[in-house]
Amino acid sequence: MNLNLSMDDNCVFCLRKVPTRGHHVVPRCKGGREIAPTCHSCEDLIHKTWTHNQLRDEYNTIEKIRADERFQKFLRWLYKQKSEAVFKSRRNRARTDRKYR
Ligand SMILES: [Zn+2]
Repeated sequence: MNLNLSMDDNCVFCLRKVPTRGHHVVPRCKGGREIAPTCHSCEDLIHKTWTHNQLRDEYNTIEKIRADERFQKFLRWLYKQKSEAVFKSRRNRARTDRKYR
């Protein structure tokens, strides 16, 4: 499995042309095999919003994640940011339902 994807793929979640890395759509520890180029911002959001079990059982495709209201809010927020800014949110292990407005 090749995790060294091209650095200028578009992120499959926010569709921005930004540095990406291979992200398991279903977490690898849950048996996921599909890998999609994903940017830091989206990967952070996904892991802060859903547990590994939810990613396996409910939000197990790119389409389902992108269709979720929380992800849509995040995207609206993300598109307001400067694309060249390196966004790295602080890890929040508490998984609160923090909204992106
Ligand atoms: Zn992204």
